[in-house]
Amino acid sequence: MIPYGRQEITQADIDAVVDALTSDFLTQGPQVPRFESVVAEYCGANHALATNSATSALHIACLALGLGQGDWLWTTPITFVASANCGLYCGAKVDFVDIDPQSYNLSPGALERKLEKAKQEGCLPKVLVAVHLCGQPCDMKAIHDLSQRYGFKVIEDASHAIGGKYCSEPVGNCRYSDITIFSFHPVKIVTTAEGGMALTNNVKLAQRMGLLRSHGITRDETLMTHEPDGPWYYQQIDLGFNYRMTELQAALGTSQMRRLDAYVARRHELAQRYNQLLNGLPVTLPWQHPDSYSGLHLYVIRIRGGKEKHLRVFEMLRAQGVGVNLHYIPVHTQPYYQDMGFRQGDYPEAEAYYGQAISLPMFPTMMEQQQDEVVEALRVALGGL
Ligand SMILES: *Cc1c(COP(=O)(O)O)cnc(C)c1O
Repeated sequence: MIPYGRQEITQADIDAVVDALTSDFLTQGPQVPRFESVVAEYCGANHALATNSATSALHIACLALGLGQGDWLWTTPITFVASANCGLYCGAKVDFVDIDPQSYNLSPGALERKLEKAKQEGCLPKVLVAVHLCGQPCDMKAIHDLSQRYGFKVIEDASHAIGGKYCSEPVGNCRYSDITIFSFHPVKIVTTAEGGMALTNNVKLAQRMGLLRSHGITRDETLMTHEPDGPWYYQQIDLGFNYRMTELQAALGTSQMRRLDAYVARRHELAQRYNQLLNGLPVTLPWQHPDSYSGLHLYVIRIRGGKEKHLRVFEMLRAQGVGVNLHYIPVHTQPYYQDMGFRQGDYPEAEAYYGQAISLPMFPTMMEQQQDEVVEALRVALGGL
């Protein structure tokens, strides 16, 4: 089976992890801050906090922004469930904004209409999670303008987008958002096995997320409510979690970061080659925004001709050893969300996308011969109907 995504682990990665493993620190040593500064510098952000997953980074990002009971978090239905679940963790309510049919990211037009209605009804969101689907940045300028007009905070869920650029600047610099999140799961662009990161330019948010990542405990006297009892002293000043990344993971991440640009460039080569090879087939190819440079975590095509055909093409590709996938099942159609009152039909563009989308295999070590096999299998699947 040709997988839809796959990590690459080099000898340099292995050496870096073994060095960390045989060092004095397995956790809370020098590797995590080193990895954080490598990513922060790459992105041009002031602060970066490594976590044990993007999901936990999303959770502490929401908490740091003050999201809680009675608040609303909005996001797109076409995302991994974690982009919405982070709101529920905080006791907030979750709602969705339908997608743009060209970029598949949440539509700024739909967002504006929904905000206007919410303003009249007195239920504006506190936080918007903007997901850069497939690595293609959302229209962040439009989203930022709306955040200023309607007074909400913005988290970029850039789990797919590290190494990408928005208007010639690196994704993760937080120019148009409060916090940006990356994921380092093995299918993503660079990996730490499990892992995530939260970036921000706001020192208060960075401090707050730092506390929440590690039990709400501090040794920083400037944050303590009273004088320390002695040199052993720490204070718990908030209710936090253990969301820390290990030294082994951070060492792997730092080593992987050296190949980030090469990985994204290779993904662009593969995507261009797909574009050429698939030209003329009855599928909709992914659109690329001219002002952006996508991280290209995913290459998604749309199969025209109805749900039945979509299902058959998907099944035939899998049967031919092509590990296609579907990103994503609209979150509002998940049983857990249906129990909260969401209904089929609530977000028509997202549901239309779901009825057609297929992620083709794409990863930096993919060979052209494998790509040819994928294209041939797709040709057979489309022709065999
Ligand atoms: C993978 C992913 C996450 C969750 O990442 P983890 O590191 O596995 O917690 C969140 N949002 C999006 C869009 C993702 O693709």
